[in-house]
Amino acid sequence: MPDTTLEQFEAEAKSFLDANASLKAEEKKFVWGEGSDKVTLFDEKARKSEREELANAQAWRQKKFDAGFGWITGPASYGGRELPQAYDRSWQALEGRYTVPNQGFFGIGLGMVAPTILAHATDTAKDTYLKALWRGDLVACQLFSEPGAGSDLASLQTRAERDGDEWILNGQKVWTSGAQYSDVGEIICRTDPDMPKHKGLTGFIVDMHAPGVEVRPLRQMTGGASFNEVFFTDVRVRDDHRLGDVNQGWTVALTTLMNERASIGAGGAGGSSLASTNRLIEMVRHFGLDEDPITRQRLADLIIRTKVAGYTNQRAMDKIKMGQLPGPEMSIAKLALTQNMMKTGEFVANVLGPRMVADSGEWGTYAWAQFVMGIPGMRIAGGSDEVMRNIVGERVLGMPKDAGIDSTTPFRDLKVGTQSK
Ligand SMILES: Cc1cc2nc3c(=O)[nH]c(=O)nc-3n(C[C@H](O)[C@H](O)[C@H](O)COP(=O)(O)OP(=O)(O)OC[C@H]3O[C@@H](n4cnc5c(N)ncnc54)[C@H](O)[C@@H]3O)c2cc1C
Repeated sequence: MPDTTLEQFEAEAKSFLDANASLKAEEKKFVWGEGSDKVTLFDEKARKSEREELANAQAWRQKKFDAGFGWITGPASYGGRELPQAYDRSWQALEGRYTVPNQGFFGIGLGMVAPTILAHATDTAKDTYLKALWRGDLVACQLFSEPGAGSDLASLQTRAERDGDEWILNGQKVWTSGAQYSDVGEIICRTDPDMPKHKGLTGFIVDMHAPGVEVRPLRQMTGGASFNEVFFTDVRVRDDHRLGDVNQGWTVALTTLMNERASIGAGGAGGSSLASTNRLIEMVRHFGLDEDPITRQRLADLIIRTKVAGYTNQRAMDKIKMGQLPGPEMSIAKLALTQNMMKTGEFVANVLGPRMVADSGEWGTYAWAQFVMGIPGMRIAGGSDEVMRNIVGERVLGMPKDAGIDSTTPFRDLKVGTQSK
């Protein structure tokens, strides 16, 4: 039984928030032509403003951590309060009512990397990183994908070779979100090519500022550069920064991927919040299509799909809150999210026609191009649509397993990409 009641905790949280942040203004009803018309799926900024936003985000995390609201459910030994999930949910709801700096910078670090450190790291690495990540002193990224290893992650080729109490890393990662501002990364490397591909892998925490780490931005078709290629040349990592046992990196990766799906789910499965549903309705009215039966039918279909996706997502989230493992609902929720995004894109394209592809300067029209161009990225991130369908096919419909998982041949003898022996 916690010594602080939920009511006491809420009063304490409210007085901290009142003293350090301002309440959000009441959300105004959407009015066509008013305010920003930005509709993006990726939060893209110029590097300078990204740095400034990050500094504000870190300052807020540090302040709330020091006041006891940074890691409400975490172990006391790492600065947590050891309070039940209900307290955390209550904090989230309360904080949501105030204007605070964007905390998106910490999504990967706290949603995926920190839980993996807690589950698999040495005491030294836990002491070094857990509090620093939760306090926002450090930002982390996920260094999994490679040019020849994405959906089939176990084909990765970045090598880690032991040298006394250290490991030497060589290779390349790709699509690393946020590497440009991250201090550390969770990396999975091949440590034994003589073992089958899922077996000879090991996880580490690598310092992104270490000599030999080079981060190169990747320009997206939306115009921004949220992802990077990361090159490792003779980068040294101490053995006490290893995650899990040597050659047991697949289990480490699965811990992270499980948390990744839960994080994506927690972000909402609708893709079209009520605000954007209102926006679609107002757009239809603005262009005089509100009496058009086909447009009305398509819009109703979109709203129904979004609601259904929201309920599936809720079911998965409730399971997680009850301490159960997220099941195939997570895959269904991810698929529904991207399908609804595509349907939204098609609907908007039908209403706007050429206004969506040629910038006429008209409010609320060309802005949608950013949204549409972000959809392919969403269909791939966190498990592609096809991979999600495989999971649903196998685990829900009981179909035969996807062919191609070779669990016996040594990695060295597999024909994987441009693998060097
Ligand atoms: C927005 C975004 C953010 C990302 N952030 C990160 C990050 O921070 N860190 C990181 O490590 N990676 C990140 N990634 C990479 C992401 O994990 C990979 O892109 C993803 O795993 C797919 O891998 P791939 O790009 O190599 O495509 P591939 O796996 O080569 O897939 C190519 C095509 O083949 C299909 N396909 C593949 N396997 C199968 C199969 N078995 N059955 C049917 N179809 C199949 C896929 O659906 C896809 O259409 C990010 C990607 C995106 C888009």
